[in-house]
Amino acid sequence: MTDFVIVIWYNKKWKNALLTKGEKIMANFKENLGRYMDAGFPIIYIDTFEEEKVDGIIRDVVGGRGIIEWTTIGFRDFKSKIIESDWSLLDTLKYLIQDPKSCSRRVLVLKDAVKALSEDSEVISLIKRLAINITSGVEDFEDFNIIIVSNVVVIPEELEKYMTILSMDYLTQDEIKDVVNSFCDEMELESLRPQFLDELSLAFKGLSELEINNILALAVFEGGNINAGDLRLITEQKKQVIRKSGILEMISDNVRDNIKNIGGLESLKKWLERKSKVYKNINEAEKFGVDMPKGVLIAGMPGCGKSLSAKATAMLFGVPLLRMDMGRLMGKYVGESEANMRKAIKLAEAISPCVLWIDEMEKAFAGIGGNGGASDVTTRLFGTFLTWLQEKESMAFVVATANDISNLPPELMRKGRFDEIFFVNLPNDKERKNIFEIHVKRRREQDLKNIDITQLVNKTTGYSGADIEGVVKTAIEEVFSDGRKSLSTNDILKAIRETHSLSEIMKDSIDKINKFYKQYKFKNASEE
Ligand code: ATP
Repeated sequence: MTDFVIVIWYNKKWKNALLTKGEKIMANFKENLGRYMDAGFPIIYIDTFEEEKVDGIIRDVVGGRGIIEWTTIGFRDFKSKIIESDWSLLDTLKYLIQDPKSCSRRVLVLKDAVKALSEDSEVISLIKRLAINITSGVEDFEDFNIIIVSNVVVIPEELEKYMTILSMDYLTQDEIKDVVNSFCDEMELESLRPQFLDELSLAFKGLSELEINNILALAVFEGGNINAGDLRLITEQKKQVIRKSGILEMISDNVRDNIKNIGGLESLKKWLERKSKVYKNINEAEKFGVDMPKGVLIAGMPGCGKSLSAKATAMLFGVPLLRMDMGRLMGKYVGESEANMRKAIKLAEAISPCVLWIDEMEKAFAGIGGNGGASDVTTRLFGTFLTWLQEKESMAFVVATANDISNLPPELMRKGRFDEIFFVNLPNDKERKNIFEIHVKRRREQDLKNIDITQLVNKTTGYSGADIEGVVKTAIEEVFSDGRKSLSTNDILKAIRETHSLSEIMKDSIDKINKFYKQYKFKNASEE
């Protein structure tokens, strides 16, 4: 509710605070749209959440030409939004084809057309007819364009060569600084210290000008000015905006994700620490001849610290963590998955410096190129990702995690894609000792000195880190419910006896994974 009030309050009172660099992006967008229309591009696909903003742009760009707008509720007046008829998209297209004069010096704006584009072959075929009429200069179609507006990009194969996608760029950090400065001027606030402005603009990366202005207005509304305390507000708001985009999730910092809380995996931790030195001093490093860190693939046994390592990387690098959920990326419409992937990459690059964590990578890419029968969608999605990874120059550092990579396409494993591929095995004796210490210390530091960790280590061969954490938690809970004062070795031993380890439960698949990793000689995440 507060947000809503603030948006209205802000928009009314400080409408003029819309700012130069943001306007530049709008101007670029407008210019491109105008150019595409003048050049006779038949179908322009505007990929946006901001329908209203785009309406304004279309109105400016079309000049003296008329606009026909179709939405699911029918045909309506573009300006007043009053419904003029309840025709379906099919009827509308048929009418336009039968009566070319109604296309003359007009623009057809389609909204809510995603479903039809995805599954209605008649609609697709009629749009294609219109597109051919435009490209071949048929009378009355020389000045006609189709504009599709949607936040989901669906490109039917039949229309691929007639479509051009247009999306709005994100603001750069300097442009965000301009937005913030102009806001402060407009609101007659004191100008911000350069260092604080740096932090603030970094935190705003990935948000639109409108979103930035709304958050600033909210900060001023709540505290009277903009100060360091607002960084938290920005992060919270930004998380919501990113979640709404549906393809990435911004994960909150948690002190537990410190690299010191990973037991074992010494070789991986050292490697990450070395990369963090490069990452944090990238200008000097590049001058010295060091390449920009690209990313790492961490694969291996479940519950052994892969996700923990992804989170710890972000904390070590001192940047936000964005999680890409491959399951959510896979859209139901043709072309949607690839469009989602491109969007996710674009957003991650806009937010960068950041760590982009691609979780459960095998779920998306397994079976490509092999006999597994991966779909065309997956293969194309993989191609988009691989090209990006190969050519990536931004500070979006990729941490991909996977349990089983034996079915992933070999191209992914080639040098030059990831900086390194690590294999995480079940923890060895020394690592299990570390993991026990971490988990007992986290919950019962006072009891640690009385626990005989060696005994626990001897009884837990084949246990994963998650198994060990589970055993410690169970033992502590039991001590508490018995009303006892302290945790003992025997309590944990009892919990161990009652637990089935990962290697017991998944014996066959663990043997298979182990064999694969040995054969390919990936770097061991543990110190050998
Ligand atoms: P999955 O593939 O099933 O997602 P994962 O390898 O990503 O597993 P994590 O999520 O990192 O496993 O680990 C699960 C939990 O187990 C962690 O939250 C952590 O508490 C504990 N854990 C696992 N490995 C370690 C470790 N090496 N050091 C400390 N804790 C660990």
